[in-house]
Amino acid sequence: MADKSDEWKSSIDTTRPSIARAYDVVLNGKDNYEVDRAFVAEIVKVVPEIYDVAAYNRQILGRGVRFLTGQGIDQFIDLGSGLPTVQNTHHVAQGENPEAKVVYVDNDPMVLAHGRALLAENAGTAVVTSDLRRPATILADPAVERLIDLTRPVGVMLVGILHHLHDDEDPQGIVDAYMAAVPPGSYLFITHFCASTQEARDAERQYLALLGTGRFRTPEEITGFFDGFELVEPGVVPLPLWRPDGPVPEKLTVGHQLMYGGIARKP
Ligand code: SAM
Repeated sequence: MADKSDEWKSSIDTTRPSIARAYDVVLNGKDNYEVDRAFVAEIVKVVPEIYDVAAYNRQILGRGVRFLTGQGIDQFIDLGSGLPTVQNTHHVAQGENPEAKVVYVDNDPMVLAHGRALLAENAGTAVVTSDLRRPATILADPAVERLIDLTRPVGVMLVGILHHLHDDEDPQGIVDAYMAAVPPGSYLFITHFCASTQEARDAERQYLALLGTGRFRTPEEITGFFDGFELVEPGVVPLPLWRPDGPVPEKLTVGHQLMYGGIARKP
């Protein structure tokens, strides 16, 4: 008989790739199925560096969260947080400030199952299984109300997720709704697939055909998400160029430029 803790498995669709599981593939994780690996194999044909791109994204996530804790941010809403992996937001934030609180939000059932197990021991974190396209629902969730004090600055993270929202889903309106709910001094942290090269355009076609989402926006469109906020240096740039810990590549490859990111402060 199925264990109650295994009930989530019945809601997993293994006939088509999932965003969370495909990302797990490129992070060399174990929480994925053949259909996810087959999808990634198609992406590798157009962007062989896709595994490196995932690593750049995780690296900027770490640098960005450290930057934010350095600005005094001690509470984070991590939207589209993904399957638990090494150096998650709460590891980085609580490594800097053990009192930091993190609410993870994701709509993939596998994220909830794994996340709950991982976070059960950590009173400063919670996982909300919900659709981030409904900001009012997320913000009213008991876990957010318990862990996040919306009268104090918050780090709002949309890392590697806005490109999975189509234009007609009003990604700007969704960003604005979250940022309207947090006070001045809060920060917005975005990384995003960028239509920077022909290979990126080819990858976009594959994402849309095989996964159903993947809108590669221009640097100007990505920068537009931060309208009304103060971008911190160096602005919206290819991921390896955002406040690097070490030497930066002299000549940027397709992979270096496949995602752009930035952080801005709400004045
Ligand atoms: N933020 C993590 C990172 O950058 O390392 C994970 C990024 S992963 C590419 C995107 C995540 O967003 C996936 O786990 C997926 O399940 C989740 N996601 C996609 N659409 C979503 C939605 N509408 N609401 C909540 N989560 C969503």
